[in-house]
Amino acid sequence: MTARNIISRRDFIAAVTVLSAAGMAACAATSQQSSRLWTADRGSSKLPPRGEFVVRNAYIVTMDPKLGDIPNGDVHVRDGALVAVGANLNAPNAEVIDGRNRIACPGFVDTHFHLWGSFARGVVADGEFDYFPVMSKLGPVMTPEDAYASARLGITEAIYSGLTTIHDWSHNIIDGRYADADLRALRDCGIRARFSYGYSRNLQQKPKETADFNDIARVKGEWFGAANDGLLTLGFASRGAGDTPPEVYRKEWEFARSLGLPITQHAGPPPAPRRRRSDAADDPLMAALRAWRLERAREDAVPAYVVAHDATLEAISEARPTSLPALRRVKGMGPSRIDRYGDEIVAIVNSVGRD
Ligand SMILES: [Zn+2]
Repeated sequence: MTARNIISRRDFIAAVTVLSAAGMAACAATSQQSSRLWTADRGSSKLPPRGEFVVRNAYIVTMDPKLGDIPNGDVHVRDGALVAVGANLNAPNAEVIDGRNRIACPGFVDTHFHLWGSFARGVVADGEFDYFPVMSKLGPVMTPEDAYASARLGITEAIYSGLTTIHDWSHNIIDGRYADADLRALRDCGIRARFSYGYSRNLQQKPKETADFNDIARVKGEWFGAANDGLLTLGFASRGAGDTPPEVYRKEWEFARSLGLPITQHAGPPPAPRRRRSDAADDPLMAALRAWRLERAREDAVPAYVVAHDATLEAISEARPTSLPALRRVKGMGPSRIDRYGDEIVAIVNSVGRD
């Protein structure tokens, strides 16, 4: 009896985190020259053979209430499907992967990922150099090759982190080649994914225009035939009620539904009103925090933003936390910053921060 008959790959272990290296090797092995990027056949490519392997002596977290955890367990996989999970499995022909001191568990699912922007993961929030202004400048000048490279970087990082399913919310589709770039990267790396066709940075400025219906239909026809090993599904990334009027988003949703595409959109509370810089400048607490930051940065020989960003200082001066628990709730005050500076900041608030 094959593994498929006993337990499907997805039932228990989409992939195990110890296998990330194997996944990345597959990713590298299928690398394409950029000249073939847009011409190679889209619908018929197959992933490389998955082979047979056994992970030995891992700490297995099955997530199955009946099976529980299995310390020092084995996972036997053949052709992408589980054969067996347990202790001391007999698998004479399988390649052995040493799982000692590793956790083997079902792959994680990331429900929101902008693969095209993976290259900019290091962009930190710092005034004008914040994520959104930077990405709206970089997005329009990217080439499809850039998008492909960025997507591969993001997928590789995902696999390395134990993610085996991602939702690529693709919202820098300047023309159809950019959708092809993401899809090719997803297919080349062999990760399971929902690709949600979105819009371009440009279209975001044009709320009265609909998404490119013709190209969405083309992508569905070209990429989502029977031949993608079932790993990829198509969705629609909608600007939705936040960014478009009802006559536009309704038309888009009707179109997406006519193709059977699931619809997702960004949602969240409206941004908190920012204090005007002049307000912050007049605030004695803000002035004290800035002076303290300058001193700490000099003492520690680090740039001021390493101690705290302006936005963090502003959030502190707004929240006026008079205790460590209150300071912990301030955006930007993570555990290491609390450890290093928490007591000093609370002391400053207590001395000058009372309204
Ligand atoms: Zn997003």
